[in-house]
Amino acid sequence: MTGPRRVNRKKTDIPKKGAVGKHGKQREYAIVDRHPVNCPRCQSTERLRYEGRQIFAYAGEIAGKPFSHVVWRKCICVCGQAIKEKSHEYFPDGI
Ligand SMILES: [Zn+2]
Repeated sequence: MTGPRRVNRKKTDIPKKGAVGKHGKQREYAIVDRHPVNCPRCQSTERLRYEGRQIFAYAGEIAGKPFSHVVWRKCICVCGQAIKEKSHEYFPDGI
């Protein structure tokens, strides 16, 4: 064999995926509030499962925040109540 041998990196040198940004810097997190909606029957915000979503292109603004789509998510609450969650979401590049 000619030329320098390729040195294999040790597994421990490889940062865990998602833990560190592109340049080895720690990712900076912006802290935002997410407001889960309480079940009308048991007040829980926990859902057993989601059963798909419907997305409608409908743009507007709520409290100064733009949204581009209205999303309906069908889900089942932990108490068994079937719920349709409606949310206004912003997809800058569309769907
Ligand atoms: Zn419930």
